[in-house]
Amino acid sequence: MCAIEHYNIRVYGVVQGVGFRPFIYRMALAHMLNGWARNTSGYVEIDVEGADNNVEAFLNAIQYRKPHAAYIEKIESQKKEQITGHSAFEIKGSKHEQGEYQLISPDIAICPECTAEIFDSSNRRYRYPFTNCTNCGPRFTIIKDIPYDRPLTTMSCFTMCADCQTEYDNPANRRFHAQPNACSVCGPQLELVYSSGQTLICDSPLDEASRLLRDGKIVAIKGLGGFLLACDAANDAAVNELRRRKQRPSKPFAVMFPDVATARRYCHITAEEEKLLLSKQSPIVLLKLLSQADLSPSIARSLKYLGALLPYTPLHLLLMRGAGIPLVMTSGNLSEEPIARDNSEAVERLGNIADYFLRHNRDIHMCYDDSVAMLVNDEPCLVRRARGYAPYPVRLPFMAKKSVLACGADMKGSFCLTRDAHAFVSQHIGDMENVETLSNFEGTVEAYKQLFRIEPQIIACDAHPNYLSARYAQKLTQKDTSLNLLYVQHHHAHVASCMAENGITQPVIGVALDGTGYGTDGNIWGGEFLLADYKKCDRLAHLEYVPLPGGDAATRRPLRVACAYVYALLGEATLIESGLSKRIPSVELSLLCRQIERRVNSPLTSSCGRLFDAVSALIGINDSINYEAQAAIELEMAATDAPVTAKRYSLEFAEQNGMRIIRLKELFNAILKDVQSHVGQAEIACCFHVSLADAIAAMCQELSRQSGVKTVALCGGVFQNRLLLQLVTRELRRRELCAIWHKQVPSNDGGIALGQAAIAAFSSM
Ligand code: ZN
Ligand code: ZN
Ligand code: FE
Repeated sequence: MCAIEHYNIRVYGVVQGVGFRPFIYRMALAHMLNGWARNTSGYVEIDVEGADNNVEAFLNAIQYRKPHAAYIEKIESQKKEQITGHSAFEIKGSKHEQGEYQLISPDIAICPECTAEIFDSSNRRYRYPFTNCTNCGPRFTIIKDIPYDRPLTTMSCFTMCADCQTEYDNPANRRFHAQPNACSVCGPQLELVYSSGQTLICDSPLDEASRLLRDGKIVAIKGLGGFLLACDAANDAAVNELRRRKQRPSKPFAVMFPDVATARRYCHITAEEEKLLLSKQSPIVLLKLLSQADLSPSIARSLKYLGALLPYTPLHLLLMRGAGIPLVMTSGNLSEEPIARDNSEAVERLGNIADYFLRHNRDIHMCYDDSVAMLVNDEPCLVRRARGYAPYPVRLPFMAKKSVLACGADMKGSFCLTRDAHAFVSQHIGDMENVETLSNFEGTVEAYKQLFRIEPQIIACDAHPNYLSARYAQKLTQKDTSLNLLYVQHHHAHVASCMAENGITQPVIGVALDGTGYGTDGNIWGGEFLLADYKKCDRLAHLEYVPLPGGDAATRRPLRVACAYVYALLGEATLIESGLSKRIPSVELSLLCRQIERRVNSPLTSSCGRLFDAVSALIGINDSINYEAQAAIELEMAATDAPVTAKRYSLEFAEQNGMRIIRLKELFNAILKDVQSHVGQAEIACCFHVSLADAIAAMCQELSRQSGVKTVALCGGVFQNRLLLQLVTRELRRRELCAIWHKQVPSNDGGIALGQAAIAAFSSM
């Protein structure tokens, strides 16, 4: 008989609301341990007594057999002198301490057990659209405050029936303390209403909604984090009508497929992509489109990729089974407004877009869009971070003394709050261009502060004088003068964000390529090579400055950008001779030239985004665009299928006052020649990508020789171009440099708050 030992164990991470205590209960029984487990504000505490080797096996089981939805940050175990002599294992009531905080689980896609139940006609949850358990279901979107207990969620108004209560109370049950536990007897119910809000009387709202969708109607569906708008993805008229009503002329729509097998008929799906589609986060995954065969051509015009997702709630599963067709699923909003959340608000805001609403009476506490991800070099990268990921924190590679609120940028708005080494990056909130988004931003900041018990001492924001996010930061520090305000240069923040999520603390060569960011010299930066760490940032090189008539407003007209580049780099005569002059009214063209010449509203830019716009227009892909980065995306698409070319356009390096410049003149010269000799779009687009990637890597190599730094951080929205990212990482590897890039947060401005926060938090150490 072995001696009995006593251990006290603390498990940190996402360990509450994910079936952790019933798991501990089962493991304790399996390993013949007595004692107890309880939730505290900051961790799960376990007290066990038993044989030493059993405790060891128990600790291993916690680490390696943890529930599907749990995430363990660390386990602390301490051997105790005294033996208490527990006679059984029990789960004790929660213990809560003032100011303590815990990590909160994101919403989790429906698990296989719940899926089986809703399709089993003998199960009491057969076809119940709000089925969930400790392994799956809503979390973050229904939590109003911690501790995570039912009274503090939007489920508080539903009283569990006897059957549900029994499951909830039984530590051996999958639904033990599953806070959103419900069934058709006691839980939320569906209803189908007309666009006026009036109820449509029918036997089954689900069946009726499926029928209406098959009939070509637009139905707004209340999901986890807000309403989604759905229509038949094969019905061109329906898709176009949705575009017209939503005022979204061409930005691609995501499509929900009933299952992977159906998705495979339309898209190429690698093993890694399949894993991501079926993951508990269940994001929209950008997949290579095989054939648009029966899909409406209006879903993703001229794109080679499709945003695809699978049903992630029982409601979506049942609806997709009923409809049996791929459905467009897009955020329930008008253009760039926030996603609609409440039943009455939805009818008000979406009444002119949707024909019907499929809604329910479980309130949504937090807005939450679908996340968007893609695979690069076989690893998932987030393009939009929301459902399934937020509010799970990014771990900073250092412990900060002070808490920070970083307000992000105005495009792809999101913020970041820090506490200790946790950086809570908010879900995607949207472009800060309307009152609704700004107020959603402010409300979400307050909610995070409350949930994670954070009172920021430092406020960080972008250095751009006109950003609404920066004005918000200023307002906060004016209201409370004890707060420090820190302005962070846009591209320094991009680089710091990439460093932080990759756990880097040493200086890096940061390659920050994006559309626009306010530079320290007052120019519009966006093609930057920086030597940076969290403390400082030196600009070592950049893309050549070119005047941009109209400033940031020019981004809607790539053709004008192309004209400006050709005029500035090659002169008026070349511009007139080039095909460009035939595509733009001569009055407009000469006005544009005079504007550049006299420097009237023509700020200088080193933007890589504008370089893509200019090349795209120059070779005839886009004259004007309808959504951000459209020209660059379509240029990438054109290059994607081109045959590999050995040809290179030359991008020369020059030096001015110690600053290295990548010159663009020869590049434009060569592309113009190719256009004139009718070289195909795909070939030019491909050669441009390869040449640019070579130039970036060669510049990094020079800067590495000069600085001794071997790590290169690739960041900024341009690196959402996966062809470019793949080419650059390959070229860097060939030169024995180590490339890091974004995976956890978007590489575009949606990830910038993390960088601002890391810089500000580091300054407090
Ligand atoms: Zn489940
Ligand atoms: Zn029930
Ligand atoms: Fe940016």
